[in-house]
Amino acid sequence: MVQSATITATVFSYFLICPRKAWLHHQGIRMEQESEDVALGRLLDETSYSRSEKHLDLYATTSDGIPLTGRVDRAALKDGVLHETKKGRSCQEAHLSQVRFYLWLLKLNGVTANGGAAYRGQIDYPALRRSEPVTLEPQHEEVLALQLRQLIRLLEEPHPPARISKRDFCRKCAFEELCYG
Ligand code: SF4
Repeated sequence: MVQSATITATVFSYFLICPRKAWLHHQGIRMEQESEDVALGRLLDETSYSRSEKHLDLYATTSDGIPLTGRVDRAALKDGVLHETKKGRSCQEAHLSQVRFYLWLLKLNGVTANGGAAYRGQIDYPALRRSEPVTLEPQHEEVLALQLRQLIRLLEEPHPPARISKRDFCRKCAFEELCYG
């Protein structure tokens, strides 16, 4: 059953960009190694932070028993900030939700920053030389819980949803050949 499968931040953020991409990825179908765009993203990630600063793995379970996990690009624990690196802002809403998903995982675990304050997030755009602050407010948690339920319903479907019709957008996707080849 999908309910017992762990929902990753990757599948969650894919769902917000293209439900078909989330379904394919959740089935274990991987074409990332063929995508120059994904390779560029990895390179950006590897060159953005020092090795000692990178990655924080998070796990949590929702109140209705859904296991969640996510890997944060960089956690500045001393400052109470989770950082996520992105190339551009074309999917900014999905990126914001992805960082809120991480903040939600910490909150579900009862983890706070120094002094008991909630952790904050930040999306870094090295290529654009700018960053975007992210917070997790109660209304964001409600949206995340709703989107999670929608995602689980999607993943229970026996067949993938239809392709999205934004063909230009699809050219950056690792699954383009699978969807349109
Ligand atoms: S190629 Fe387009 S339709 Fe197919 S998974 Fe990627 S974004 Fe979705």
